[in-house]
Amino acid sequence: MSSLPSTTDIAIIGAGAAGLGAAEALRDKGVSFVVLEARSRLGGRAHTIMASPDVTFDVGCGWLHSADRNSFVAIAERLSFAIDKTRPPWRDQAYDAAFPRAERDDFIRALDAFYGRTEAAALRGMDAPASNCLEPGDRWNGMIDAICTYLNGCELDQMSLLDFEAYEDTELNWRIRRGYGALVAAYGADVPVAFNCNVTLIDHGDKRIRLTTSLGTLTADKVIVTVPTNLIADEAIRFTPALPAKFEAAAGLPLGLDNKVTLALDGWEHLPKDSGMRGQSSSARVGSFQLRPFGQPCIEGFYGGSFAREIEAAGEGALTAQAIDDAAALLGNDIRKSLRPLAESRWGADPFARGAYSHALPGHAGKRAVLAAPVDDRLFFAGEATPSDFFSTAHGARDSGERAWKEALASLGRR
Ligand SMILES: Cc1cc2nc3c(=O)[nH]c(=O)nc-3n(C[C@H](O)[C@H](O)[C@H](O)COP(=O)(O)OP(=O)(O)OC[C@H]3O[C@@H](n4cnc5c(N)ncnc54)[C@H](O)[C@@H]3O)c2cc1C
Repeated sequence: MSSLPSTTDIAIIGAGAAGLGAAEALRDKGVSFVVLEARSRLGGRAHTIMASPDVTFDVGCGWLHSADRNSFVAIAERLSFAIDKTRPPWRDQAYDAAFPRAERDDFIRALDAFYGRTEAAALRGMDAPASNCLEPGDRWNGMIDAICTYLNGCELDQMSLLDFEAYEDTELNWRIRRGYGALVAAYGADVPVAFNCNVTLIDHGDKRIRLTTSLGTLTADKVIVTVPTNLIADEAIRFTPALPAKFEAAAGLPLGLDNKVTLALDGWEHLPKDSGMRGQSSSARVGSFQLRPFGQPCIEGFYGGSFAREIEAAGEGALTAQAIDDAAALLGNDIRKSLRPLAESRWGADPFARGAYSHALPGHAGKRAVLAAPVDDRLFFAGEATPSDFFSTAHGARDSGERAWKEALASLGRR
């Protein structure tokens, strides 16, 4: 569908995991609804591409985090998407030369001790920057900071300690062989979506809510908003009357930045498939690699936080160049002639994402609940920034869509 109806019972803004989660559930509930999506595709930050005929690349989410409690696992099974249960290589490294075993063990000890301190500090209930839990002068502080950039898209000094601890991680992480983005798109394939429909204004001052979009105006009884927080904080989408509490909540939950890159690998079949590789670093300016994911002829790089921002600001191709330099530093210059650019993400520059996923700034851990709360039983809020436990993930986003449709339906007097 690409045309915009003039009126509907429920309008859902955004066809990412959250919007599709809400729409999927509304299909047989006897209400009219439409998903308004600014892009020309489904999935939002869940996006799989064929980077080459033999390389599937998840440009956004790739891991079914907390797989034993992840609602996309049952959906994958229902839609016959094969699940790969290989353990992620995040704590293991393929190359001892780059990061010798004894050093790595020492780092893991420091990292676990840091997690112990964040847990103890969070129990005291006072919010603060998570960097307060670093051991002053410890030689692994830079790399612990790097881990935070992978997990949260920001450095520890930008990260709320309470939010850091609130994230629920069951430590079971699986993947979808055909891509997580492909799964999310297949999940939402049957819902009514108006594509290329950029919503700029939500006027909730009258009895019916009036939405101004790039395809014209639409009135609705209820609206479910699922756009990333940065679009609310930047007022790319505005509310009238203004909603200062939502604006402040979104500003307290900015999207950090993480970018991914995939490089075609010619030969080098001796590199162990699905293994990890990361250099030893004294700062957070360090990328992380996965070698031959699923046995595919490629290596994938992951960069986060201010380092990712700096690289993205250097323009298209900068991430690919950085990843090739880093791979050569770890594996030797011979690998350069076997690597070929395939694809890289630029989530910060993406106008409909403006970052990767949300984290709470120090002092703002409570803002997820503020963002999630309905307004006047007419405006409902979902998206990865709204759950109290599985925030920043695709399944957390989907589940929040489910919460929002239940709220919207109840407000219409239906169940
Ligand atoms: C590099 C990277 C790696 C990640 N890795 C993982 C991972 O391994 N596992 C995991 O679970 N999660 C991961 N995530 C996070 C996950 O992708 C997101 O949390 C999730 O997809 C967000 O879903 P959402 O529906 O909340 O938002 P989105 O997917 O952003 O959906 C919102 C939709 O709203 C649309 N939109 C925006 N503004 C407007 C507007 N004004 N009008 C109309 N439409 C609009 C957007 O185009 C988008 O389609 C990763 C993300 C990135 C970027």
